[in-house]
Amino acid sequence: MVSVQEIAPGILAASEASGANYGLIRTDAGAVLVDAPWIPKQAQAWRAEVERFSPNGVAYRIHTDYHLDHILGGCFMPPGLTITHETAWKHLKALDREVLLQRALERGQELVPDLAAQLGDVSVVLPQITVGKGVALWCGERRIEVFHVGGHTPATLAVYVPDARVLFTGDLVVNGRHPYMADAVSREWLSSLEHIRTMDVACIIPGHGQPGGPEIIDRVYSYVFEFRARVEACFHAGHTRRETVERVRPLEAFPVAVGDEERVRRILRSSVERVYDEIKKEALRGRQRG
Ligand SMILES: [Zn+2]
Repeated sequence: MVSVQEIAPGILAASEASGANYGLIRTDAGAVLVDAPWIPKQAQAWRAEVERFSPNGVAYRIHTDYHLDHILGGCFMPPGLTITHETAWKHLKALDREVLLQRALERGQELVPDLAAQLGDVSVVLPQITVGKGVALWCGERRIEVFHVGGHTPATLAVYVPDARVLFTGDLVVNGRHPYMADAVSREWLSSLEHIRTMDVACIIPGHGQPGGPEIIDRVYSYVFEFRARVEACFHAGHTRRETVERVRPLEAFPVAVGDEERVRRILRSSVERVYDEIKKEALRGRQRG
């Protein structure tokens, strides 16, 4: 089920259960797309919607990170310059198409019975523009700020539309889901959330889940903070990485859909391992300094 909403004048946001959210900012210079549906048929339907809503074409196509649910649909979008973080460029450059398709099948085969056939036309799109810290796009009357937010991945970008006080956060913020932390640096994640909390924002479009007000930032902050604290407590109590995985029980913060338990368990396991390694590294560095 896809729900597309015009959350501010000229700004569409779509959220769907099976992948990342995506959206469109209409400007006099053409649309600016933020991510795209990863299932090809949905991407084609979104393309038709984009062409209807923004008849003067697409100026830019931004991918907020390099995970497949954010990048795979890029090849189905109308022509435009693709923008990613510079680290995402490296991932995409090294990405083998067959590996991408394999991952896509693992993720969506059960959901979409004819997925293998749909994936036939997929190609990996390399960005023409890469962003380090940030860049401003001047599109007619609209200024759009694209900036790096550390934490979820080293390549996550947020997209801010000041005139509408709308912020697309990529997966730095997810709403009603367990944040995916397998590529994360939890300490940076918290400081990025602190940063966006200071911005003048009326509406947040998270990477996954429904749009909301700034309060959804606070819920992710509490989650990451608590997650980190639990892993840290295990580390300092002398537990190994494997024991820590057993001890940090899936947080009750969000309901897990029936049938989705195994996937969420896997995500949580890799998240705990990642944060454990981060805390171990911090402890080692502290010892070397002290
Ligand atoms: Zn995602």
